[in-house]
Amino acid sequence: MVRILKGAEVADALDQRSTQQVEELKDLGVTPILAIIRIGERGDDISYERSAIKRARKVGIAVQQVILAADVTQCRIISTIKDLNTNTSVHGVLLLRPLPAHIDEDFVRNMVAPEKDVDAITNHSLAGVFAGTSTGFAPCTPSACMEILDYYGYDLNGKKALVIGRSMVVGKPVAMMLLERNATVTIAHSRTVDLPAMTGEAQIIIACVGHAHLIGSHHLSSGQVIIDVGINVNEDGSLVGDVDFDAAADIVEALTPVPEGVGNVTTSVLMKHVAEAASRIAL
Ligand code: NAP
Repeated sequence: MVRILKGAEVADALDQRSTQQVEELKDLGVTPILAIIRIGERGDDISYERSAIKRARKVGIAVQQVILAADVTQCRIISTIKDLNTNTSVHGVLLLRPLPAHIDEDFVRNMVAPEKDVDAITNHSLAGVFAGTSTGFAPCTPSACMEILDYYGYDLNGKKALVIGRSMVVGKPVAMMLLERNATVTIAHSRTVDLPAMTGEAQIIIACVGHAHLIGSHHLSSGQVIIDVGINVNEDGSLVGDVDFDAAADIVEALTPVPEGVGNVTTSVLMKHVAEAASRIAL
């Protein structure tokens, strides 16, 4: 019988700890504040912003929404970030991406102050993940994958882990985090030859591609633990992962559902980071 690794349980455990940390900060006169910068009206951004606000409210974190027009100038975004960087009442800055095409995203994302970079979008924070130092924060989605594995008690030491996808948002950082925990890590991508041979050998698979049901029964074997990061929208508006859930459920030991899996945990990790940032800045 497959074990369904539900995100809600993990999120609740994280939220309980964040709530306690936030209460302690409030007792000292500090209310943690997350600033969310949204540019334009992209549906994905609005829905992520909504779920972040809901989660923030749950744990007692205040949110400052900064909404800029889709045709905003790069100068205006940079001055907005600089103002938030120097505003001592703001503890975390989340810049929703991708940014509009006329903006140099690589330049702009690196303007966030490292101590407020709660989703690790700057090269400085990402370098910390790759160097294995814990001075900054790690990106929320890769951290959510690790929180799920930890919560459900999977020991990564010496395990063969396969990460499918190599983006800087998910694939590469999660591969580094698995390596840091002594897994033997392989990274697959769009040029990988014979993916089924690789997936078949892995004990832990992190699928972060963005291709509905790319991973099916011919990729899988018994005993595997699968974390499905992919979020793909069907024609009828329903969401599915990169893994064919029904096919996988008959074969593997454990897997995360989509929805109600990794996505649920990501916003809780974000709140954990904001509470931690507030503690580091304020205390
Ligand atoms: P991305 O930047 O588009 O990267 C996708 C990766 O998949 C690339 O490295 C690409 O390889 C690889 N790939 C594409 N086709 C492949 C194939 N046939 N076989 C093997 N690898 C293949 O996407 P992303 O930002 O990392 O996001 C990945 C997925 O995670 C998306 O569905 C996204 O919506 C989801 N996501 C979920 C959360 C959450 O909280 N749950 C957060 C962020 C993202 P190349 O590098 O060779 O092109």
